[in-house]
Amino acid sequence: MMDRKKPLKNKIWLSSPTMHGDEIKYVNEAYETNWMTTAGANIDEIENQIAKKIGCEYTVALASGTTSLHLAIRLAGEKLYGKTVVGKGALNGHKVFCSDMTFCATVNPITYEGGEPVFIDTEYETWNMDPEALEKAFEIYPEVKLIVVAHLYGTPGKIDEIQAIAKKHKALIVEDAAESFGATYKGKQTGSFGDFGCISFNGNKIITGSSGGMFLTNSLEDANKVRKWSTQARENAPWYQHEEIGYNYRMSNVIAGVVRGQIPYLEEHITQKKTIYERYKKGLKGLPVKMNPFDAKNSEPNFWLSCMIIDEKAMCRQTRDDEEALYVGEHGKSCPTEILETLAKFNAEGRPIWKPMHAQPIFRNNDFITRNGLGRARTNAYIDGSVKDVGMDIFRRGLCLPSDNKMAAEEQSVIIELIHKCFE
Ligand SMILES: *Cc1c(COP(=O)(O)O)cnc(C)c1O
Repeated sequence: MMDRKKPLKNKIWLSSPTMHGDEIKYVNEAYETNWMTTAGANIDEIENQIAKKIGCEYTVALASGTTSLHLAIRLAGEKLYGKTVVGKGALNGHKVFCSDMTFCATVNPITYEGGEPVFIDTEYETWNMDPEALEKAFEIYPEVKLIVVAHLYGTPGKIDEIQAIAKKHKALIVEDAAESFGATYKGKQTGSFGDFGCISFNGNKIITGSSGGMFLTNSLEDANKVRKWSTQARENAPWYQHEEIGYNYRMSNVIAGVVRGQIPYLEEHITQKKTIYERYKKGLKGLPVKMNPFDAKNSEPNFWLSCMIIDEKAMCRQTRDDEEALYVGEHGKSCPTEILETLAKFNAEGRPIWKPMHAQPIFRNNDFITRNGLGRARTNAYIDGSVKDVGMDIFRRGLCLPSDNKMAAEEQSVIIELIHKCFE
């Protein structure tokens, strides 16, 4: 293999925005018509288009995926426990089962509403919430009535199983499809399975508005409530009348213009991301690694990020504390730290797997439930088969690869070559 000394000429990003030209046209339209506010044709248009795409009745365009999750969780809380108590939130101390290995925005909104996240371990087949661990959680806390579940990296989780468990325990589901817009499970779009769904248009997602998000529902009443809360919860009165706490969470019509220009390219982006995933899969063959898995029979991911996981036997020594990572290189072995550092040196951006929430200092007192029951494993040390902290194991051995859809095949070949080098 050739010896590469020079970094890539252009930086390869993990996943950066890809604009097509129509975005600026709709932004301009907002400007020219003076709808420079949180209402206008772009918002109406994307709400309609995305409802159609997802296959849900109603959508509300909001400032971000996080705000969508917040309002979805508050709505679920009010349905379960009655009106929000000011200062205590709609969840008012109640426990909520949620994905553990995910971005913090999946779980933070639970705390905004005064709820207590209980983290459910991950499974190896799709890297999402483990239905077995969820079932275990209901054995321990049968009173829980809300599940917040994410589809990581664009890969649908075990939706059928999780829905069945929710139904059995009469729990509601908030579905975090922030990373998986356009992915399907048994032919249905992610975001349409939960009682409430959320997607994100953050700058690095599959399509973007630079920011933005959307709340998805089949209930007109719920959509109206979320729209009301997102615009400071005004009552129908001639003056500013308030019976509920509100937020300034509505999407801007300017941002909606960017999203509107992006929607026609969703499928194209997915095709490009899938090509990237397949090139990695082919290029990494022969190495002791695997790509992030998905249920090929039932699901079609959007392939937002390509990830890989190193076989246990090919892991060199690596240690991570709360701020730093160290490793000792070894012939025939590697680790995420070595690969990420090598990629960075050559001007390519990878990323560690989302560090599980139960291992975050902020959630150190929260429960974490695995297939084996209530666990408190939250160290960075190697956890052997007897403890089975799947999330920490994937975090320890996995990483996200540069997955920018503007990356050329030759650039990706260089990245693949660099990964091979790490194992030499
Ligand atoms: C990006 C993301 C969010 C939040 O979306 P924002 O639009 O950035 O607020 C929520 N959950 C997951 C899993 C995400 O990746």
